[in-house]
Amino acid sequence: MAKNNGYYSYKNLPNEIALILESKVSEDWRCNIWHIRGHERDLIIDTGLGLWPIADHIFQISERPIIALCTHSHHDHAGGLNQFEIRSGHPAEQDIFTNPTRKSTVADLIRPEHLLEEPYHGFDLESWCMNPAPITNLVEEGDVIDLGNRCFKIVHFPGHSPGSIAIWEEKTGIMFTGDTLYDGVLYDHLYHSMPEIFKESLSRLKEFPIETIHAGHGPSFGAYKMHDIIDEYMSGRRSMICPSQR
Ligand SMILES: [Zn+2]
Repeated sequence: MAKNNGYYSYKNLPNEIALILESKVSEDWRCNIWHIRGHERDLIIDTGLGLWPIADHIFQISERPIIALCTHSHHDHAGGLNQFEIRSGHPAEQDIFTNPTRKSTVADLIRPEHLLEEPYHGFDLESWCMNPAPITNLVEEGDVIDLGNRCFKIVHFPGHSPGSIAIWEEKTGIMFTGDTLYDGVLYDHLYHSMPEIFKESLSRLKEFPIETIHAGHGPSFGAYKMHDIIDEYMSGRRSMICPSQR
């Protein structure tokens, strides 16, 4: 089932997971917003730019309490977090969620062509910064998010940013990787990226018995592709500092 309210599309996938996409943000910029339905509560992983009412859209779909969690504090993932009451993120980026700036959320990278429509008349992308979204529920390595009938474990993968986390469901072998891994050039040299530590995180990711990666951007994929992407990155391709080798 795919639904679209004009601002967000909603597509059901196996395992009670849905993919929500911002319809007015270009494909190369919008993040994947994941909705996982549990028996007692639901989990939202990443929230998009938040320029349109994402929380309202989800409340129309679910009657259960919502835990919103951001894989990290960049504007394309955390912009909508302030719309939710339960806000989860890693302590290493707590200050950014609370006091976001254009630099700290890398909003200085967004360009007019990334927005297909202005959210409101007079909107100024040049000065736009996401709303503060103080974390109400800090999550660290090993913490568990319990939806009643299924549990997700937090894995800390610093590198893309200091507080980047992935969400791991051991039972299904599903991992939500945020910007730590997707099928594209990996952003490893942003202002607070740590390229050497990023490599360590990717090496660690390879050890997980992955069935499905639901990435922060672009399509989902399996273990074979995951190993390919990481190996290519380790061999010097897929880094944002060597575009000639992309
Ligand atoms: Zn990011």
